[in-house]
Amino acid sequence: MIEMFAPGILSKNKINAMIIFKFIRCLFFVAASLCLSLVVSAQDPENLKLKDFRPVSIYKIPQSNLVKAKYPVTDFHSHDYPETDNGVDEWVKTMDEAGIAKTIILSYKTGAGFDSVVDKYARYKDRFEIWCGFDYTGYKTPGWQANAIKELERCHKKGARGVGELGDKGLGEFYSSPTPGWGLHIDDPQLKPLLEKCADLKMPVNIHVAEDEWMYLPADSTNDGLMNAFTWKIDLEKKGTLNHDQLVLTLENAVKNNPRTTFIASHLANCCADLQKLGRMFDAYPNLYADIAARYGEIAPIPRFVNAFMQKYAGRIVYGTDMGFAKEMYQVTFRILESADEHFYEPGHFDYHWPLYGLALPDEILKNIYSNNAKKILRR
Ligand SMILES: [Zn+2]
Repeated sequence: MIEMFAPGILSKNKINAMIIFKFIRCLFFVAASLCLSLVVSAQDPENLKLKDFRPVSIYKIPQSNLVKAKYPVTDFHSHDYPETDNGVDEWVKTMDEAGIAKTIILSYKTGAGFDSVVDKYARYKDRFEIWCGFDYTGYKTPGWQANAIKELERCHKKGARGVGELGDKGLGEFYSSPTPGWGLHIDDPQLKPLLEKCADLKMPVNIHVAEDEWMYLPADSTNDGLMNAFTWKIDLEKKGTLNHDQLVLTLENAVKNNPRTTFIASHLANCCADLQKLGRMFDAYPNLYADIAARYGEIAPIPRFVNAFMQKYAGRIVYGTDMGFAKEMYQVTFRILESADEHFYEPGHFDYHWPLYGLALPDEILKNIYSNNAKKILRR
């Protein structure tokens, strides 16, 4: 009321409110300009971090857009990703669009867990194969293998046409669920009866040993795969951990000692940094194959070498993904295998800082990797 009659005179409360308002406005401007300068300085060469480095290719060169694989594909390395039946339907739709005729789901599982995965995909028997794990229940008690073999036979009857993914990153077979076999490596004589039974039942064994080599190197400025090495680092300090060479040797021993059993080394046996190690094993053991799942980012930086390697061992390499079931994911793999695109980035799919190159694989090699080798392995 007073203001109405004396507009030039402000109340004490109003003056206080104005001061507070001006102070807050001032704070806001200071904070905003601070943020702006931080953003600007983060782009400064002194402050830009490797994790923020997201280059965009500058080259005006041909770019492929491959929506579907050139030939029908068997995906030899996938997992039970969808959480619902609708998710499974979506996956099948994506497989149709991408040209994936069949997907092998490496369930890791035995017992009720395995059965539930089989039931989940039962509506699409011609599109999915479900493989089981090994049952290591009671593996510290002599004679445990009898039960494990019984469970293997049961899973086989329920539909398992292979075993996988087994996995050992240095401390033993820990992928199988619900009971991991810590301390058991694939060449352990205790596993021989199981591997023999796999041969009898014509069940191939998909096994992951080690990790790629830069996960073992110091995570410093010299590490070529640094961003992934940070996340996947293998700690060799942990007592009893086998190193890369020792783990690859466990695979080689198992392949050598079980010539009737077919082995598929996951992820090119994690030998992307030195594929000759895998080539030497291919030369020596006809029962060894390898999948390329989740190693596209590792082989795309060296396209000419990998192209020659894949031509040489075209009968031994199978397609795999291991990276979910999004349509774009499949398309990235086709681009890397089929196209001759150069110097491109696929952020969101791979965490390396390096650019990628298409392998430009010839049609005959593609057919082998996409499906002929799979047919050979799955012929039963
Ligand atoms: Zn996997």
